[in-house]
Amino acid sequence: MSKTLICSCEDVTADDIRHAVSRGFCDVESVKRFTGFGTGICQGKGCLSAVAALLAKEKAQKPAGLLPFTPRPPEFPTELSVLASAPVDESQPPVGGVPQELSVFPSALRPEAPVPARAKVVIIGGGIMGLALAYNLSLRGETDVVVLERGYLCAGASGRNGGGVRMQWGTSANIELAKRSIALMGRFARDLGINVWLRQGGYLFMARTKAVAKRLEQNVALHNKHGVPTRLLTVDEAREVVPGLSLKGTQAASYNPEDGVIFPWPFLWGYANACRKAGIKVETFTNVTGFEQSDGLVRKVKTDRGDIACDTVVLATGAWSPEIARLAGVQLPNEPHRHEILSTEPLKPFLSPLVSVLDSGLYFSQSMRGEIVGGMGDAKEPAGLNMGSTLRFVSRFSQALLEQMPQLGHVKVLRQWAGCYDVTPDNNPVLGRTPGLENMLQLSGFVGHGFMMAPAVAERMAQWMTTGESDELFTRFNLRRFQEGKLEREDMIIG
Ligand SMILES: Cc1cc2nc3c(=O)[nH]c(=O)nc-3n(C[C@H](O)[C@H](O)[C@H](O)COP(=O)(O)OP(=O)(O)OC[C@H]3O[C@@H](n4cnc5c(N)ncnc54)[C@H](O)[C@@H]3O)c2cc1C
Repeated sequence: MSKTLICSCEDVTADDIRHAVSRGFCDVESVKRFTGFGTGICQGKGCLSAVAALLAKEKAQKPAGLLPFTPRPPEFPTELSVLASAPVDESQPPVGGVPQELSVFPSALRPEAPVPARAKVVIIGGGIMGLALAYNLSLRGETDVVVLERGYLCAGASGRNGGGVRMQWGTSANIELAKRSIALMGRFARDLGINVWLRQGGYLFMARTKAVAKRLEQNVALHNKHGVPTRLLTVDEAREVVPGLSLKGTQAASYNPEDGVIFPWPFLWGYANACRKAGIKVETFTNVTGFEQSDGLVRKVKTDRGDIACDTVVLATGAWSPEIARLAGVQLPNEPHRHEILSTEPLKPFLSPLVSVLDSGLYFSQSMRGEIVGGMGDAKEPAGLNMGSTLRFVSRFSQALLEQMPQLGHVKVLRQWAGCYDVTPDNNPVLGRTPGLENMLQLSGFVGHGFMMAPAVAERMAQWMTTGESDELFTRFNLRRFQEGKLEREDMIIG
């Protein structure tokens, strides 16, 4: 049997591409995410044009609709030690990046059929939140639902995150949500028929200052109260968990062996497939442009493919939520903040937990494919919907990583990208009914932890929406709290 190899780095064949197209993945970015083509050492240089040609031949898209493959620096696989030597001016904010603009989706990719004229529930945003909610609604018998996504699935933060899932939080509400989510993640493959590669290798948090060490210590007691087996570790004990870690400047560490990492992309495919099977419409390349409102209710959601009348509309647009809410005259306190992240060439498995220096925001883990995946926040990053990648980030990250693991200096970085945290003033989400616009439901503001919260939050929200039973989550994290000043701050934020 012969096979036409398209991507030799990742062993993706022409049949794999055709299979992706037959499953509805009809643009380069979606097919890349579904098959993994172009994610290996050559970063698409050898296979992109072949895939684009094949898609055109399969009539999956018009050539004019080809979304650029967004080459990201470094242009060639480059060693971490070389990147660490690039100068960084910490006094200046990061600017720009490559590519500058990812928010424009080509019109040729849009489906040509009209959107449904009405639906009971319209969910705006086809990220993990919107899709998880739609799936959970279907489990409760509600399938008169349309999910509207401006781009391809995985276009937002849900396709760009680090895949970390942890129970080590600073508040009871978040500990309980994360516990439930991780339990649901363990069943995901069985429930939805797709492997999300959950690996519970733990999370090792390091503290470099007394204040952060104290926070870790207080959290351990809280975690244990919730049945989470977090332990406070000495520096030597932490070194036993991750041999080779320098632990430079570390005062204390905490470790929960039940935290872990997942691979984000299949989650979205899994939820989207299950939704479609249940009769829910997931409309990609469909941009929401406004709302028709009267008597304190949203009557219609306007899109560039037509209007949809609805009983309820859910705003699940992540970092774009303030922008979309504004179209309905609603002011959200969320701010988008760029966070950059990178992935290296694969190494033999050696790193069990996700490691994070809480003070600097450095985090890194090893994926199931063996890559080191990691990022680091930048205190100077200005608010804004910027998804460009910078040399400044790879340099800062490489310096901080090599300080902890100098032996990784020879490892090459394959690619980098960026996404936006959807940041609220108290680092907690915005949930529930919108004051003054009763049938608009909020589901945003998940900062840098929305992926791990989605399964549990969506389950609770679907239950609340379909039964009308009260649930304190939707009062606790309601938009009202910002006016009333009842903020419950979450401080265990990486980045
Ligand atoms: C670098 C990085 C690392 C992260 N690491 C982690 C981690 O380790 N663990 C974790 O749990 N979380 C992590 N997060 C956070 C997590 O990715 C997000 O909280 C989560 O994905 C948010 O999901 P969402 O569905 O709310 O938003 P998104 O995934 O951003 O989805 C919103 C969608 O709305 C769409 N949209 C926007 N405007 C419109 C419109 N007008 N019409 C229709 N659709 C529209 C967008 O295209 C987008 O697809 C990280 C985030 C980043 C950026």
